[in-house]
Amino acid sequence: MLAPATSSGTNTLRSVEQQINQLQTLRHRRRPFLPFPTPWEQAYLQHRQQRFLEVDFAMMLIGMVLYLSFAWADWVFGGDQSMWMIAVRAMLTLALLLLALHLRQQQSARLIPMTAIGIALVGCSIVAFTTQLEGSIRFAYHIGIIPVQVFAMVLLRNSVRSFLTCSLAMLGVYIFTAWWLDEQASNAVEAALLSLRPLFILFWLLLIILGTYLALAMERVSRLEFVQNRALELEAQRQQHLVEQLHQLSITDGLTGIANRRQFELRLQEEWQRARRYGQWLSLLMIDVDDFKAFNDTLGHPSGDAALRQVAAQLHSVCQRSGDVCARYGGEEFVLLLADTPAEAAHALAERVRQLVLALDICHPASKRAWLSVSVGVASRQVDGSDSAAALLRQADQALYQAKRQGRNQVCLAASSVSS
Ligand code: GH3
Ligand code: MG
Ligand code: MG
Repeated sequence: MLAPATSSGTNTLRSVEQQINQLQTLRHRRRPFLPFPTPWEQAYLQHRQQRFLEVDFAMMLIGMVLYLSFAWADWVFGGDQSMWMIAVRAMLTLALLLLALHLRQQQSARLIPMTAIGIALVGCSIVAFTTQLEGSIRFAYHIGIIPVQVFAMVLLRNSVRSFLTCSLAMLGVYIFTAWWLDEQASNAVEAALLSLRPLFILFWLLLIILGTYLALAMERVSRLEFVQNRALELEAQRQQHLVEQLHQLSITDGLTGIANRRQFELRLQEEWQRARRYGQWLSLLMIDVDDFKAFNDTLGHPSGDAALRQVAAQLHSVCQRSGDVCARYGGEEFVLLLADTPAEAAHALAERVRQLVLALDICHPASKRAWLSVSVGVASRQVDGSDSAAALLRQADQALYQAKRQGRNQVCLAASSVSS
């Protein structure tokens, strides 16, 4: 049975349209970083973490393995255990941080900042290697920081903040260590390499500036892409709501909110087929408001409309089962289709409907009964292959006219229903 139309569908549609408008405004912002208001920002961050997990997480793991294997190779071939121990400690710290995040179930929300911390840890541990080694070979480890910086550029390309924090932390530790240790050259080669150190820092800084520019551009593209995809999803939702609304409108009576005649005719065919399949009873109540023309003539059409709405609400209230249909058949005529309901039960329900309308106490000055009433024609039959739904409708209509002829405000059961 159809429920009266509600405004919830319209509200959802309005909220979806509002969101689409908000997204359009965001799309056209000129700010380079393209920040979003809080709910969108959270949704975006969630989306970015998800993408990171899908696309980059494997690369992060490979990076960790590569780093450990380099440190292990240094130990095996270089014989210096201290670097291997530094690397293991750095990775253990990272693993513990990841575990803590996992236990607090925040792993997805903090994954990118965690990656930044991880890369910074690796960078700082390489700076620590340079302090552990003796001889010119230690300068090879200075260069080893550059791949780590490039790795940060690739992995943190969509997050300007994480990239900058991680890169500046590594550079800061490097500069601080260089200044703090104040290394002395033991030969001409080392002296030359040490004199090149400011240049090295300058190139590194240049790399960070380039990386920041890249991350800004990439993050902006990623945010734009997110906004566009979200707008497309919402547009699809909007279309779906519109289709649903259109469907509701096409099956609903505009004045009363109950099913219209088209919907009734469709449901009548469906219920008829179902009843025929299972050999069940099907009952039809045709309800007509008595002397309604006179009602309109004395109280006016708006009062007539209000009365029709009240009558429809009463009819709707008695239609509670899933197979039942309550519809406005046209003008001041209504129908109730009752699935799996034999003649006696349908007759009793018709009588209840008649009394419910009278109980509305709608004053009808032009009627000899003084109150608004209805006449009801009832037709019932146990459905088999011998008859049609149209015949049931005809019989209900004939019973209704008999009720009218007999003086109105009464229920009449079609003769064919009794003999069935
Ligand atoms: P009877 O007891 O024999 O049914 O008499 P009646 O006056 O109800 O029947 P009739 O068919 O002569 O008049 C039906 C009236 O219903 C005429 C029309 O003005 C009114 N009507 C039909 N649709 C609407 C509607 O949507 N709103 C209003 N206010 N009146 C309507
Ligand atoms: Mg009528
Ligand atoms: Mg009438």
